[in-house]
Amino acid sequence: MKQLFRSLPAVNACLNALDTRLPVSREAPRSLVRHLVNGFLDAQRCRIQEGAVTDPAQLALPGCLPALQDFVDEGLRPRLRSVLNATGVVIHTNMGRSVLAEAAREAVARAAAGYTNLEIDLSTGERGSRHSLVEELLCMVTGAEAGLVVNNNAAAVLLMLDSLCKGGEVIVSRSQLVEIGGSFRIPDVMERSGATLREVGTTNRCHLHDYRRAIGETTKALLRVHSSNYRIIGFFKEVSLPELLQLGREHGLPVIEDLGSGNLIDFSPFGLPGEPTVQSVVAAGVDLVSFSGDKALGGPQAGIIAGRRVYVEQLRANPLHRALRIDKLTLAALEATLRLYLDPQTALAQIPTAAMLSQPPIMLMRRARSLATRLRRALAQTVQISIAKNVSRVGGGAFPEYDLPTSLVCLRPATCSVEDLKRLLLRTSPPLIGRLEDGAFCLDPRTLSDKELPLVVRVVQQALRQEKGTP
Ligand SMILES: *Cc1c(COP(=O)(O)O)cnc(C)c1O
Repeated sequence: MKQLFRSLPAVNACLNALDTRLPVSREAPRSLVRHLVNGFLDAQRCRIQEGAVTDPAQLALPGCLPALQDFVDEGLRPRLRSVLNATGVVIHTNMGRSVLAEAAREAVARAAAGYTNLEIDLSTGERGSRHSLVEELLCMVTGAEAGLVVNNNAAAVLLMLDSLCKGGEVIVSRSQLVEIGGSFRIPDVMERSGATLREVGTTNRCHLHDYRRAIGETTKALLRVHSSNYRIIGFFKEVSLPELLQLGREHGLPVIEDLGSGNLIDFSPFGLPGEPTVQSVVAAGVDLVSFSGDKALGGPQAGIIAGRRVYVEQLRANPLHRALRIDKLTLAALEATLRLYLDPQTALAQIPTAAMLSQPPIMLMRRARSLATRLRRALAQTVQISIAKNVSRVGGGAFPEYDLPTSLVCLRPATCSVEDLKRLLLRTSPPLIGRLEDGAFCLDPRTLSDKELPLVVRVVQQALRQEKGTP
């Protein structure tokens, strides 16, 4: 083993060898390349200790150079990368949820490239508010009297409860005490806000009299939480928003709704269930409603609050608001996205999330066929390709468990297992993420743009070539 450790090259020898083989490493910061070389040598030491290498020639230069070069190459690439989403899950939190519309991407690039009037009122030259930039648009689109934007919807819930319910009680149905994922639990957020949670009803049933009975001296608000990621079926009852609003009015209590995924478009004509839109909740008279910017709305990560001015002003005056404020890039993207909603047809055509959710099955079948044809041409006999009817998912806790009909392109490689193919496709550039169904690696065209289809063909080809050991 001592002999093996001694075969490891010196760091400087590695750096010199890389310089001759890998011109990019010469442009990269020297400190980073050195750090990566050290990382590579550490990994080699571990392998020696584990008994994974016994051949000194594999450890020494030039034998180790190809592996070193791959390691350094990988380390020099950005960590946050574009990936191809072929899972069919439209709002995929692990893949960054919504893809921004072109208008939003351009707005971000403009705001990033120079100074902006973020907090300057151009009509007076005096200090302005960043929030006024989107409030008017938000009111036009939702029909609300006032609006406010923070970092994300979890922050919006926190700000609403902290501003209106601190030191008091907020009443919520037991069936709505949800965990959204990524350990965001409604009860935990409430606790942070300093409001006491008053649970009413049972897991599956909650009546108006349950709320009524719970109202007391310290009650500050009534809260509804949208069951975004689960569904209770069978013997189930929950109190409707109008009923709750009526009760709130009787007792002078605000009614707050966490809508989760804020739909500004009714997707029911496209085969999705009739979820309440933000506009309908506002029109019903809710005092405050909050929703995410990057779920069904298809914009940047943000928490949007709309409702009555008196309450929005209380939120605005809360010091927590400053800690949760959004940045100029998000504001730029949000403004451009909301502007598209002024005409719902434009929103459906230009906002990728909305377009993906509303794609008709016949179109998906056509796109699946086109992708299958290209793949067959490129891959010949190395993989068996078929098309299967299946379903896509909305994801992101929007439209719980709802299936959207789609057509999948199914790959069954001849030279490796589907698990191997899945693993190899994580290492292509860009990586391709699909799903395994019925012993095949499947691609759902719903979440791939037309521009991405040739790229899909290229990376599948790349993965299968690697599998055969001819990189
Ligand atoms: C997704 C969701 C949240 C959290 O929203 P983020 O924008 O991810 O912070 C909160 N409440 C409900 C009901 C949700 O569906």
